[in-house]
Amino acid sequence: MRTPLIAANFKMNKNLDEAFNYFNELKKLTADTKNVEIVVATPHLLLYPLTQSVKNTNIQLSAQNVHWEDSGAFTAETSPKTLKAIGINYTILGHSERRKMFCETDETVNKRIKNALKNNLKIIFCIGESLDQRENNETIKVITEQVKKGLKSVSKEEMNNISIAYEPIWAIGTGKTATPEQAQEVHKKIREILNDIYGNEISQKTRILYGGSVKPNNIKDLISQNDIDGALVGGASLKAESFFEIISQSSK
Ligand code: PEP
Repeated sequence: MRTPLIAANFKMNKNLDEAFNYFNELKKLTADTKNVEIVVATPHLLLYPLTQSVKNTNIQLSAQNVHWEDSGAFTAETSPKTLKAIGINYTILGHSERRKMFCETDETVNKRIKNALKNNLKIIFCIGESLDQRENNETIKVITEQVKKGLKSVSKEEMNNISIAYEPIWAIGTGKTATPEQAQEVHKKIREILNDIYGNEISQKTRILYGGSVKPNNIKDLISQNDIDGALVGGASLKAESFFEIISQSSK
């Protein structure tokens, strides 16, 4: 049985005051939440002060990216070692906005994954096809390549710290959600790829999240699919109440 994971991605939104208010509200709302893992990826500048706010709660903080080295001449990058030292245990990696706007490739994502794992961070590893690729029937080919290259030389044991987020690029921030059937088809395929690489136990254990315009009114149909184990939520996570509505409908 895979515990659902519901993760918020704030992207480059909220200042410190806004974030504190948000967490005060979310903490109250989720105080009795059980059987769902809750993660919030805030802008990196806010992570350290917010560690105080989430202490002794069921909310975990996450980074939105980390570098493939622990230190060095990498202006404006974030070291996974520094994150760990301030008590952060999660990071998103390979988000399509990083791939598209900041030239991330499967190879750099793989390097970041390897170093995040070395530093004992848990990872939400994002993959997903563009609209052109979907319309050219290349979805499965693209997904297969992203999974294989992103997880290159990641061991079975290390897979315990990885969740995969399938985020069709055409559904991110557009209001267009993949139908539950479209999402399930790709999630099932991702599990088959994991089965080919790592065998049945790991493929059954690994959580595969869906991301792309998830809202309180569509989460139920998505999460009820066999291979959808949670969600990565952008826009609808920015209000504590709407993020909580998604969380509260997600226990399986
Ligand atoms: C995301 O950025 O990961 C995302 C899924 O955004 P949205 O929910 O706004 O589509």
